[in-house]
Amino acid sequence: MAQVTFCGACGSVTGSSTLLAWGERQLLVDCGLYQGDDELEQRNWRSFRFEPAKLEAVVVTHAHLDHTGLLPRLVAEGFEGPIYCTRPSRGLVSLILQDAGHIQEEQARYARKKGYSGHADPRPLYTEKDARRTLRLLRAVPFDERLEIAPGITVRYRRAGHLLGAGSIEIRAKGSDGERRTWIFSGDVGRYDVPILKDPEPPLDEPAALVLESTYGDRLHKNSDPEEEFRAAIPRVFARGGSVIIPAFALGRTQEVLYHLSHLVEDGALDPDDVFLDSPMAIKATDLYQQAKQEHDEELAEDVKNHLSALQADRFRRCRKSSESKALNNRKRPCVIVAASGMVNGGRVVHHLKRRLGDERTAVIFTGYQASGTRGRQLVSGAKRVRIHGESVSVRAEILSLHGLSAHGDSDDLLRWCDSLAARPERIYLNHGEDDSRKALAARLRSDGHAHPRLPFTGDSVPW
Ligand SMILES: [Zn+2]
Repeated sequence: MAQVTFCGACGSVTGSSTLLAWGERQLLVDCGLYQGDDELEQRNWRSFRFEPAKLEAVVVTHAHLDHTGLLPRLVAEGFEGPIYCTRPSRGLVSLILQDAGHIQEEQARYARKKGYSGHADPRPLYTEKDARRTLRLLRAVPFDERLEIAPGITVRYRRAGHLLGAGSIEIRAKGSDGERRTWIFSGDVGRYDVPILKDPEPPLDEPAALVLESTYGDRLHKNSDPEEEFRAAIPRVFARGGSVIIPAFALGRTQEVLYHLSHLVEDGALDPDDVFLDSPMAIKATDLYQQAKQEHDEELAEDVKNHLSALQADRFRRCRKSSESKALNNRKRPCVIVAASGMVNGGRVVHHLKRRLGDERTAVIFTGYQASGTRGRQLVSGAKRVRIHGESVSVRAEILSLHGLSAHGDSDDLLRWCDSLAARPERIYLNHGEDDSRKALAARLRSDGHAHPRLPFTGDSVPW
């Protein structure tokens, strides 16, 4: 019996996980954390739909937590096999999982202290130690090479353009009828013609089935140019004596922001000594992006060759120690502070906002989607006050949002990616999208002549 079971991200954009089984032999594609409201996050505590110790291997599409964030729990519950990821992913997976283990422990400690958990002794979902044990199981593999990960089962990664190291995966194995066929797991598909990383590259095999993400299946990105928006905003804010705070998503988005800011520097519109990257995780991720030369698109490769890369260590100022971050409070000269986290849930950006939101000269530039329940959402929705560290802080600063920086392709990009495949798959399953998005994408695919896409529920199984 060869079958595929959808274990997560069915009708939601987090918790990606798909189980592949050939009799007793079981593999998992992604092992993501659910993120968002309480109902979603409770799912992280449910028992797995399989026995972790019996899994032979895990294949990870990319480093984001909604694809990797439950790996340490899998390991804590007995999984000991290899975890495959691409070579450029490995560093990011290490960064993100260690950080996640730390945050889980912190949250449990905080809940215990405040006594607001329903449990007498709130426990972390997993610990930093679990995360470190997980990292020992990572096996980094190159893009474009077919690899036998179990007898008769091969895997090949192709660049997905969504994040450093992000891949689409081709898995080739026999079905119950003895026929060998290829399934493609798109992972998260990036955008075409955006800076830093190479464009998405289609898988090569003719697919029998495709599992396709649908995050923006119902949307088209606005045709806005983030560089022009920075160029319009930053000098204007500096001229009135204000600073610009950019809440940053440490992986991917931060590097794009730096890329655009560096063009302002080249034109003389910005002094690089006025730009501070204030996030240890973003600094480490930026180094990984800079080092992964094979992943750079032509423009970045040219900049790297000319020692003009936005990502090199001496391009902008970096705050590693918290004392360096605090020193920015006393700075009189206007500056740009790029600091995590992107939705202002935590991290150093919270301290900067607490200090500067009340100053009408300040501007805050959001660079991505702000989920409901976050401070970022309150600010972009026009809140006049926000609570920070138990205090009510008044908001007089100018709040701006950039819309041109998504890491996910829109529905045009997803269609373009599907059309680039070697053949049209006989079956398409849409996951990793809210129901409205996957329904809209299904309609587009159908009208484009693709196979009738199916929208699996969590727990649904289909034959290989
Ligand atoms: Zn992702």
